[in-house]
Amino acid sequence: MLELMRVSQRNQSVQNAAYAGVRRRPGEEANASAVPPPVREAPANTAAATQLWRAQRARMLVRALHKPMMKTLRIAVCLVTLLLPTMRMHAQTVRAHAAPAGPIRVLLLDGDSGGPWHNWKLTTPVLREELEEAGLFQVTVLTAPPGNGDFSGFNPQFSRYQVIVSNYDAPDWPEPLRAQFEQFVGNGGGLVVVHAADNAFPNWPAYNLMTGIGGWRGRNELAGPHWYIKDGKLASDSAPGSAGNHGNRLPFQVVAREPQHPILRGLPPVWMHAPDELYDSLRGPGRNMTVLATAYSDPKNKGTGHDEPMVMVVHYGKGRVFHTPMGHDPAAMSCVGFITLLQRGTEWAATGRVTQKVPANFPTANSVSYRVDIASMDPAFLKGASPIVEHPVPAAHSAPGHAF
Ligand code: ZN
Repeated sequence: MLELMRVSQRNQSVQNAAYAGVRRRPGEEANASAVPPPVREAPANTAAATQLWRAQRARMLVRALHKPMMKTLRIAVCLVTLLLPTMRMHAQTVRAHAAPAGPIRVLLLDGDSGGPWHNWKLTTPVLREELEEAGLFQVTVLTAPPGNGDFSGFNPQFSRYQVIVSNYDAPDWPEPLRAQFEQFVGNGGGLVVVHAADNAFPNWPAYNLMTGIGGWRGRNELAGPHWYIKDGKLASDSAPGSAGNHGNRLPFQVVAREPQHPILRGLPPVWMHAPDELYDSLRGPGRNMTVLATAYSDPKNKGTGHDEPMVMVVHYGKGRVFHTPMGHDPAAMSCVGFITLLQRGTEWAATGRVTQKVPANFPTANSVSYRVDIASMDPAFLKGASPIVEHPVPAAHSAPGHAF
């Protein structure tokens, strides 16, 4: 298998920066809590940050202009002055229909998981890095209380954002908070659900409508049927059984089922995902859900023998949801395929469009392509763990009743 794989690396300066960042924090390798705390939500700074971003963009534009262009610009300014009254009227008309300027405002939600195998303090900085490098997003991290925590002082302003990216797996939320979240997505807000975020909230009907399918936390046939693709079409199985399962972490092929969807357009029809938990037997209402890509759940690796959903989009009210059960840990998240899907899926959930190009180092049908700088955000990688080595399921991970 190894000879089939290639390691994709970003430019050296980025890798050096990543390693330098690790060196600046000696001794933290064995202690996940030593990872720098995520930036808390700071709504008051959002407008200032947007202004700063606009100012930086304007300065870059001016620097790019050569002297002859400056001369042309001065002439243009004179013309604009003469025509200003007419142009102002036109501009007001255009502004009423234009998309909001500035970066897409992302709220990255974390704060709880079903167990220590999902280290959100480690994976949130990975998600943040991958989103920010796309150059489209302004990311604010919001760490919510754990499901059994005190929510009395927790009052997020969801409406300040265009999309929520969830790295949060809690068993439940208080009703007023549920209502705020439902209002946000129902009114047109975007939602991105990554890996174990689909384990969250088994008894919250609206959340399960948003995700389409989910697993663990006691879910069974009452949550809905098991959805998969059979003979190219969406199929379901309502037979009794628990929801959620996976085998050892191995590389697996992802197959595009809706190649013309904006999120997948331009991607190869099949690509090799880095070793990850291949979730199977996910159950849910599956309403307004389109499966964009699947992976074969191999019975030789404790799988179902079905093509299980790996990339989904769901419409909830006016809101768009992008859902992938891939991305167990930084190693899986270092896959160029995962990064590309996260960036494109988040843009689509926020705007309904995808403007990003497919990277040249996107994995092929038989070759894993992963990013060393991302993988090295996990201290285990620097101790010798590799994203392309098989990862057996730890005993604790398989404990019944646990989410993973
Ligand atoms: Zn997992």
